[in-house]
Amino acid sequence: MRYIPYGRQSIGQDDLREVTKVLKSDWITQGPKIKEFEEGLCRYTQAKYATAVSSGTAALHIAALAAGIKQGDEVITSPITFVASANAALYCGARPVFADIEKATGNIDTEKISRKITKKTKAIIPVHFAGHPCDLEKIKAIAKKNNLIIIEDACHALGAEYKGIKIGSCRHSDMAVLSFHPVKAITTGEGGAVLTNSKDYYKKLIMFRNHGLTKENLEDTSQGDWYYEMQYLGYNYRITDIQTCLGISQLKKLDSFIRKRRKIAAFYDRAFKGNGYFDIPAEKEYAFSAYHLYPIILKKVYACKRKEFFSKMRARGFGVQVHYIPVYLQPYYKRLGYAAGLCPLAESFYNRQISIPLYPSMSGKDIKYVVNTLLGLCKSVFK
Ligand SMILES: *Cc1c(COP(=O)(O)O)cnc(C)c1O
Repeated sequence: MRYIPYGRQSIGQDDLREVTKVLKSDWITQGPKIKEFEEGLCRYTQAKYATAVSSGTAALHIAALAAGIKQGDEVITSPITFVASANAALYCGARPVFADIEKATGNIDTEKISRKITKKTKAIIPVHFAGHPCDLEKIKAIAKKNNLIIIEDACHALGAEYKGIKIGSCRHSDMAVLSFHPVKAITTGEGGAVLTNSKDYYKKLIMFRNHGLTKENLEDTSQGDWYYEMQYLGYNYRITDIQTCLGISQLKKLDSFIRKRRKIAAFYDRAFKGNGYFDIPAEKEYAFSAYHLYPIILKKVYACKRKEFFSKMRARGFGVQVHYIPVYLQPYYKRLGYAAGLCPLAESFYNRQISIPLYPSMSGKDIKYVVNTLLGLCKSVFK
């Protein structure tokens, strides 16, 4: 039986050649490829500084640290996200505060952000769900009024645009975080990055990536050339040359990957338009989506059959997935005192959402197979 996952990497001969070259070179970890990848990310997004790290989660963590998020602070984020967006606040001893989503995109509702702001609020982590950008100008206006830092979780949105400007540019935020996990727009295996236009944040980010070590702005200047200082408590979140050379090679193909994703999404749009079983994603007028996911939302009356529908899709060889369980419903979060009912729209979204296969290397045959099987199953399950 054919197996079609909801997302997967696209690795070509060109990628293999680059990785092989690095493996045979003098530098397999902290060599020239990291800087070259970071420069490529800056060129692509127009951000001034990029710090590549070992994962998107590590990137969120050091962004939160660089922002100065600490115990006693509150950080507003979306419940419809991967757990890492909220965990970044917990890592720093801060409390994640969840603002409900808007139905149309599954993104955090800007009006609801305002209602969650208290004296303790330090930052907002908006998530561009499924690759569809949040309304960044609105979020920036709220942040400015309340003196808050914005860290975009752009893990779904490399290649997306907001009002014609690339996500990651940090035009409307302090930092933006990327992931290069295999299901994301481009991959380095595991990997992530923080983008920023602030030199101050950048200096901190590179220190937090590497144990808080530095050779600049030394407190003791009397020492020799061997000398370095640990000025912060940092981590080993370093990425390697083996990974970043793959990233460089993948970055060259990013635009073609996004074009392919959008073409498949457009095919789905046409095939599913006006169907009576589920709603499909739509771009807002300001948005150019990266279509990391193609989320379908079952009509309310069919929510009770989601489980059956899902397992039947899986049984037919589709690696469908649900994005996401509202973060605060996770057992760990419940033990911290969060409870069901906190974000009703997010909970309703979760109960009806399914991500169907979407990745650049899908063949025309795969795409039609998805459409036909999906609509056929709808007919039989949602009677
Ligand atoms: C993938 C992802 C992350 C974390 O990335 P990793 O590279 O897997 O650590 C964070 N936030 C969102 C929204 C993601 O999709």
